[in-house]
Amino acid sequence: MALFLLLIALVAVSLALGMWRASPWQWAVGLGVVTLAWQCGFFHGGAHWPQIGFFGFLTWLALAALGSLSIQEVRRRAVVQPAFKMVRGILPKVSDTEQQALDAGTVGFDAEIFSGTPDWTKLRAVPPIVLTPEERAFLDGPTEQLCQMIDHWQIRHSERRMPKEIWDFVKAHGFLGMLISKEHGGLGFSAQAQSLILGKIASRSPDVVTIVMVPNSLGPGELIEKYGTDEQKHHYLPRLAQGLEVPCFSLTGPTSGSDAATMRDIGYVTRGEHEGREVVGIRLSWDKRYITLGPEATLVGLAFRLFDPEKILGAKEDIGITVALIPSDHPGVNIGRRHLPSGAAFPNGPNWGTDVFIPIDWVIGGEKMVGQGWRMLMECLAAGRAISLPSSATAGAKAMLRVSTAYGRIRRQFGLPVARMEGVEEPLARLVEAAYVNEAARAVTASMVSRGERPSVISALMKYQTTERLRRAVNDAFDIHGGRAICDGPSNYLQAAYQLVPVGITVEGANILTRTLITFAQGALRSHPYLYKEVQAVQDPDSKRGLEAFDDAFCGHISFAISNVTGAFFHNITLGLFAEVPERAQGLEPIYRQLSRASRNFALVADFTVATLGGGLKVKQKLTGRLADALSEIYLVSCALKRFEDDGRPEADRPIVAFCAANGLHRFEEALRGTVENFPNPVARTLLRVLVFPFGRHYYPASDELGGKIVRLAITPGEVRDRLTRDIYISNDPEDATGLLEVTLAKVVAAEEAEKKLERAIRAGTVRRYHGIDWIAAAADAGTITESEALLLKEAEALTARVIAVDHFAPDELTPNYRKVAPNLGHNSRGVVESANQS
Ligand SMILES: Cc1cc2nc3c(=O)[nH]c(=O)nc-3n(C[C@H](O)[C@H](O)[C@H](O)COP(=O)(O)OP(=O)(O)OC[C@H]3O[C@@H](n4cnc5c(N)ncnc54)[C@H](O)[C@@H]3O)c2cc1C
Repeated sequence: MALFLLLIALVAVSLALGMWRASPWQWAVGLGVVTLAWQCGFFHGGAHWPQIGFFGFLTWLALAALGSLSIQEVRRRAVVQPAFKMVRGILPKVSDTEQQALDAGTVGFDAEIFSGTPDWTKLRAVPPIVLTPEERAFLDGPTEQLCQMIDHWQIRHSERRMPKEIWDFVKAHGFLGMLISKEHGGLGFSAQAQSLILGKIASRSPDVVTIVMVPNSLGPGELIEKYGTDEQKHHYLPRLAQGLEVPCFSLTGPTSGSDAATMRDIGYVTRGEHEGREVVGIRLSWDKRYITLGPEATLVGLAFRLFDPEKILGAKEDIGITVALIPSDHPGVNIGRRHLPSGAAFPNGPNWGTDVFIPIDWVIGGEKMVGQGWRMLMECLAAGRAISLPSSATAGAKAMLRVSTAYGRIRRQFGLPVARMEGVEEPLARLVEAAYVNEAARAVTASMVSRGERPSVISALMKYQTTERLRRAVNDAFDIHGGRAICDGPSNYLQAAYQLVPVGITVEGANILTRTLITFAQGALRSHPYLYKEVQAVQDPDSKRGLEAFDDAFCGHISFAISNVTGAFFHNITLGLFAEVPERAQGLEPIYRQLSRASRNFALVADFTVATLGGGLKVKQKLTGRLADALSEIYLVSCALKRFEDDGRPEADRPIVAFCAANGLHRFEEALRGTVENFPNPVARTLLRVLVFPFGRHYYPASDELGGKIVRLAITPGEVRDRLTRDIYISNDPEDATGLLEVTLAKVVAAEEAEKKLERAIRAGTVRRYHGIDWIAAAADAGTITESEALLLKEAEALTARVIAVDHFAPDELTPNYRKVAPNLGHNSRGVVESANQS
């Protein structure tokens, strides 16, 4: 009994000291009190002068040693210095490009999650969606008009290119210069506005959004705006803003895809003739592919590795990755033929050049920015990745929900709208979740970028999570529509999304790489409260300064690790009842508590992973991928709570938030459990099992009942459905395939009671429903339905027949201008056989 009491006291004191991040002397005092209590017999029910035996003496010695670690000199000699030397010895060399990727961007709410004790006020401080009147007018005006102009069948099938009127419209209204400042002739819109505008266009056509998205993301416009010389800004930015120049950005080559920094494209600093004058310039050879807008581009942004063998610019020979602007009509520039990415109509193709001379002034930012290319790209990507693809993936998910809820309510089988069947309810519920969560996280993240953040870790997780959720949403929409989705044609509103989903998955960092390498393996270093400081300290060439910085970071890290061990265990054995909840949670307390607890567990497992795997993180991608998922789920559910609050806590949305939170926490746990169960170190694995899962699993997916409830909300025309699909393009024109859905849905809902009466009469055999019979008139004659109900049913049936119709074609309508084309096997864009050893 006494031993049991001692154990309880030790655990209680340790939990308290650990969670309060006590210093060594405080630990010594706390544990000393327990030791004294034991030696005075308190745990045996008595009280006497301390009886200190041999082990008691050793205990006091250990406590004294522990307390002495609060003395800087002792601590440094005994612990910090040996650790400093050891870490310095084993730390793998961080390459220049890795270092630049690490340095790019800012740390934001991701660091709160990594801290294990997220400060919810920081998330709440991110402004809700705010647009200026000008931005709102642009969204409701030219963006709406553009969406109305789009005929996706003409674009995707008949022309297989972007129609001239679309190009003219986007150029004339400044769509291509949304990120260019007003000062330079652009629209100067906020990231939030750009995100909503791109999303609205994407909800109508993934092809058209691409030609608007590319000039507004990583590429010449952004690079010149941020790093260009004054001359480049004054010359190019107004021209780009007005669409007088069409830009593309060429980074990827046949041998350098995900590993873009290993590009073989090369430039040598040299002297040459330009416009009749001898100038310092660069002689370039490159071979790029997959370049969006490339075939239409007038201005090529080109990334290459620069060398200066004659040391014309200075002492350095290998200058590094550099970015230059090259007019596409410059002698030697070859713009090849077109690729056909997923059958898309947006321009995409290769470009190349051999020994092309350009003046040094064409480097973005001029001579002083040579070698700075990778840093520039990483900095822009840190913000850009948060906007372009998350916007279109979010709008895509909302559009999938909008059309599937309408179609599911209109399409009847077995005498019921298919949306009312439990089997179909499941994918519909997933669509509600995808639309709600994607929008929540999109809005929060775009607001972060609008206020100047460049969230590298959050933007990476947003990119892969939103595009993966869209992929699932498109598949769900397909399943709900059945054959109606599969037969392509002008009335098919799902095929374009289905075809183009893989593009979003692949570009701006293919998802597998982004999930398994970028989000956690690099994110941990960036967002962890101490890790990056420790790494910087050991890499400091000034050892004395490095040791001092390491002392701070290392001690902070130790107390952080102990606080995670104790904090996670405490919250897990108390089921999160005492976990942090922000003020005014108003009914969301249980979710906030579980998120705080989840964050503690994440911080603990993440820290263990980093500590035990160290440099091996890059290859243990199954673990880092799962940790990226765990981090993502906490972020996404947090954003869902923020959205609910920003929307003014609409009661009707509460079940949707509960559904998203339950599933998000469940997936979080799956990811964390998978990490712990596959932990390579058996001791750490066992310890983590005890600390994180003392009673087994905690979270279960949302119930079937809750799923049914949110689907009933989403398939009912009205406020909740509109809020779930806000800011996408919605047509009410019955001559438009999606407009027809809206019109029909309203009619079908109005005719529902009459439909039930008709179904009953058919089942009873009073009325027969076969071709050649007017069953509605028969039901009216039999008195089953009134005349006005018959009229309503007739209208609903006529509209429904149009909704469920699929396109058909004469054979020659599908084979315009067929010409046999040889497959490009082993030939590059120039028609030259690729050799493994290109020089
Ligand atoms: C339609 C389209 C438009 C594009 N537009 C442009 C453009 O405008 N400009 C431009 O420069 N580029 C563009 N790209 C190129 C795009 O960025 C690349 O396709 C992308 O970087 C992936 O390269 P890859 O296709 O060669 O795949 P690979 O690099 O061959 O990758 C194959 C797979 O391996 C995975 N993988 C690779 N390395 C790792 C790793 N270390 N860890 C884990 N997984 C890994 C990837 O995630 C991927 O799933 C475009 C591509 C497409 C398809």
